[in-house]
Amino acid sequence: MVLQLSHITKFYKFGKHKQLVLNDLSINFPRFGLVAVVGKSGSGKSTLLNLIAGIEKPSNGKVLIDGHELNYSQIDKYQQSYISYVYQFYNLIESLTVYENLILLSEIKGRTVSLNYLKTITERLKITPLLDCFPSELSGGQKQRVGLARAFLCNTPILLADEPTGALNKLLASEVMEFLRFYAKKHLVIVISHNYQLITKYSKMIIDLDSHQNNYNFNQETRYHKYLYQQVSSPLIKIKFYLKRQLLYQKKKIVMMFCSQLFTIIAFVLLLSGINGGWNYIKTCLKSDPIKEIIEISKKDYNEMNFTDKQINVLKNDSLVTSLNYKLDFSFGIFKTDQELQLESYQVHDSDYIEYLNGKFPSQNDQIMINQETAHKYSLDINDKLYFIIDENTYYLSVSAIIKDYINNGTNI
Ligand code: ADP
Ligand code: MG
Repeated sequence: MVLQLSHITKFYKFGKHKQLVLNDLSINFPRFGLVAVVGKSGSGKSTLLNLIAGIEKPSNGKVLIDGHELNYSQIDKYQQSYISYVYQFYNLIESLTVYENLILLSEIKGRTVSLNYLKTITERLKITPLLDCFPSELSGGQKQRVGLARAFLCNTPILLADEPTGALNKLLASEVMEFLRFYAKKHLVIVISHNYQLITKYSKMIIDLDSHQNNYNFNQETRYHKYLYQQVSSPLIKIKFYLKRQLLYQKKKIVMMFCSQLFTIIAFVLLLSGINGGWNYIKTCLKSDPIKEIIEISKKDYNEMNFTDKQINVLKNDSLVTSLNYKLDFSFGIFKTDQELQLESYQVHDSDYIEYLNGKFPSQNDQIMINQETAHKYSLDINDKLYFIIDENTYYLSVSAIIKDYINNGTNI
């Protein structure tokens, strides 16, 4: 497998502004070997690796595999078959152990991992004792080595490593470089490094993005194999296992979330039913108050206390008045049986909401209703008579009903 970059230009657009990152860069990579990419920060090293990995497309120019232009519509197949990537920021999955992290990617890529090979790699990178740990328990250097081991296990023709020694001490960095050199005997390894001294010790093939050189030829070959993706078996079933692990890892969080959601829903339902109950109560109270729609009009000029027929007719013809009743103004006279009674008087409409202890709504002009308390206090019953004396006139009134005491307190008629 031979990788080539041909006249690659890459720029990023910000509105009208264009930032040129790589300019007309051509590279013939060797089949195997360790190639180093150096340059100061922001010179385009990571961008170069992303272009090779097919994560980004060049603005101009071509990425060629065995002489064929990269097919971006099948880029996932290319990445599965050809590319392993060691990220600058590790990209380990927190819910999986180191061991599971190591084999997950190879499984996604449909490769079986030989336990012997895994052991060789973990021994060399000194992470064998960490296999059962979770990433959160590892130091930066340990994570970086796990990331490297994961890429080695994928065994793809191209390994890309973005600053793989950045978090390591000198000794470990040298050991990692040793291993990369060993691995590069059978693979193409492209490494980004800040450490010029270290990298030049391990590689003679250097791409310096700070220099003005834009043509590198590390390969004299002109004939290639056909560019063909390897067929990989479906790793779906194995991936399900990792999904399950992810769910288990977040079990507590999920249960807590579920409980709090449930609690919120219950509280909301309770609140709604409370509001509904309160509203119904208010509605019932309003409906069951038989005096609520009565408006009392009285003349209080003390010369002429009664309305004239003409005045009453004006009221009768008013469209807002549903019915008109007259009553004596009880406040100017006294109620009597064999004793004087202290009574409050109200006028009420006949309605379904009046509850009677006994009797029914008056059907005659001289009938009245009394409430329970009045009946009790003055020992009155249905059909009993009491009289009302006003201006030396006496009117007889008979009790047609006793209503239950829930409208108001007091002795009422
Ligand atoms: P290096 O890895 O050498 O530090 P990068 O390749 O990450 O540099 O970035 C090169 C330049 O391109 C930087 O100035 C960076 O801001 C810019 N750049 C990189 N990726 C993007 C992107 N996705 N969108 C816009 N600008 C980017
Ligand atoms: Mg970078």
